Amino acid sequence: SDKKTQTLAQLSEQAQAAFEKVELRRNARPKIHYPENLPVSLMRDDIARAIAGNQVVIIAGETGSGKTTQLPKICLEVGLGCRGMIAHTQPRRLAARSVASRIAEELQSPLGEVVGFKVRFADALKSDSYIKLMTDGILLAELTSDRNLDQYDTIIIDEAHERSLNIDFILGYLKQILKKRPDLKVIITSATIDVERFSKHFNNAPIIEVSGRTFPVETRYRPLVQDSDADLDQIEGIFAAVDELVSEGLGDILIFMNGEREIRDTAEQLSRRNYRDTEILPLYARLSYGEQSKVFNSHRGRRIVLATNVAETSLTVPGIRYVIDPGTARISRYSYRTKVQRLPIEPISQASANQRQGRCGRVGPGICIRLYDEADFNNRPAFTDPEILRTNLASVILQMLAIGLGDIAGFPFIEPPDPRHIRDGFLLLEELQAVESKHNKLVLTPLGRNLAQIPVDPRLARMVVESQQLGCLNEVLVIAAGLSIQDPRERPMEKKQASDEAHRRFADPSSDFVSWINLWQHLKEQQKELSASQFRKKCRDEYLAYLRVREWQDLYAQLKQAVHDLKWRLNDTPASYDTLHRALLSGLLSHVGFKDNNNEYLGARNRKFFVFPGSPLAKKGPKWIMAAELTETSRLFARCCAKIEPEWLEPLAAHLIKKAM
Ligand code: ADP
Ligand code: MG
Repeated sequence: SDKKTQTLAQLSEQAQAAFEKVELRRNARPKIHYPENLPVSLMRDDIARAIAGNQVVIIAGETGSGKTTQLPKICLEVGLGCRGMIAHTQPRRLAARSVASRIAEELQSPLGEVVGFKVRFADALKSDSYIKLMTDGILLAELTSDRNLDQYDTIIIDEAHERSLNIDFILGYLKQILKKRPDLKVIITSATIDVERFSKHFNNAPIIEVSGRTFPVETRYRPLVQDSDADLDQIEGIFAAVDELVSEGLGDILIFMNGEREIRDTAEQLSRRNYRDTEILPLYARLSYGEQSKVFNSHRGRRIVLATNVAETSLTVPGIRYVIDPGTARISRYSYRTKVQRLPIEPISQASANQRQGRCGRVGPGICIRLYDEADFNNRPAFTDPEILRTNLASVILQMLAIGLGDIAGFPFIEPPDPRHIRDGFLLLEELQAVESKHNKLVLTPLGRNLAQIPVDPRLARMVVESQQLGCLNEVLVIAAGLSIQDPRERPMEKKQASDEAHRRFADPSSDFVSWINLWQHLKEQQKELSASQFRKKCRDEYLAYLRVREWQDLYAQLKQAVHDLKWRLNDTPASYDTLHRALLSGLLSHVGFKDNNNEYLGARNRKFFVFPGSPLAKKGPKWIMAAELTETSRLFARCCAKIEPEWLEPLAAHLIKKAM
């Protein structure tokens, strides 16, 4: 019992030390001031009381009301952040970093001391920092080594209305650990969109609404004149809107764009128009931090900010009087019909359009120009679907297994996916040999682990993995990127023949995949010789959608980065037909067909299909083919096909053949 007393003494010593450490941290907290007049700072007593009395609190309020910048300070003031840090998550890297430096500035402490941040590839944080800004992806990654999130005493999930997969994963996971961590405080913030749902998910947690103080915003509908091609129409529409707003008087303009390329192109074209006393500022994730921060510097004259969706709710660009909203965004979407995940540019929801509009009523009455008409607005869905309902569940299952979130069917999702789609997901992962059963538990195979790291549809990721082994990575990245976007080859109704002729130059008699490669080479050569605007025109003349071409190139660059992170090397000699198509086949095993009669193919599970007209393979099809897509329209059609040799199947499909017998 001497030993017992000793252990007890030791324990109490440890407890004492821990207690003292917390006390030290408590006493070392900086003094906290709040900017006056922000709705959140005005309600800080109510908010503090709700946090003290509840494990989970939901705070809803318009953008700019101070949720992001003031809530962590309220937490710190009531004594949170001392036993563990305050985690504060953002959907985007750009926001995580700039929010950290803003809060640090308000607390008059250098970035990385009281307030720090951690995002992929960069951090500034001390072990005794109080507030840690991070992307939600980083918080998920930390779960693999800190199952109960013990390093934190508070978790703020910001921008929860975005309902990305990461956010839904975190909300589900938090629900599971709340009981194990009764001391943990969770704060969910959201724009005023569908807030009840969060409350229900967390046992009717209280919702505090902070009312924003905004000025009236006038909405003007200026639909695009559609006469040339879509890209040009949009540029013209933006020019006209800028001219209209410039004539209204001084005031900064915020224009929402779909991506980096579009922003750079538009910025270049706007600057050629030499508006007086006007500064043009792009804002997107890949800009250097210094360039990003320019939007927060004070300035004279007029400013035109061209921003991605980041400016919709996560970042408040100060001083905006006018907004131009083309009404679109790039939204990742999975089609259960075609079984393909794409990143199409789509009309945004009413909720998004209203968020964008609200960005210009902060400093005074504002004007928002929508480049579409009112009927179009009224026809749009009220909210954007959450990502879990727009994503191939095979890739969701992959990610959940990679993070260690466990079985998808038992996970407490805020909005659970359809069981039939879950089943489809499992079937695909089995086909791709990404998962296996170990001790009655589903786990990732080493191959599955790789698939989880390549940011495209799992079928395409499977091809990428195979191509690395076979030595045709470069070609397969081009194809995987191409199949992830909307085909840039355009076929206008009144120009079918001309466009078909233009595209036929790239066609390969045996493989539509090779046509993608030919088109890619052609574009690269053109780009070397032509200026940016000549290239743009050339694309139009050849019936190629310029923006999609740039999108294709961007995605290729992104994939190249992903395989670079895996330390894989691109082949520098061109791959043979056999090699390339064996690699592609690894992702398309259930999309193989054998010619029956009359150009009809017999595929897996007894499905019969035809090659979609337009492919050189449609008329005189080879005996065996594979297809990137099988799409059900009037009948089942195969799109993007290639001739294969049946003996390629055996080594790849052994696991499926065994199962079938
Ligand atoms: P919310 O999260 O509710 O949208 P924020 O906390 O982001 O609100 O912003 C509150 C206020 O602080 C806004 O008026 C915004 O203009 C201002 N603000 C936020 N970040 C910065 C910054 N980096 N520089 C200057 N002002 C900022
Ligand atoms: Mg915010």
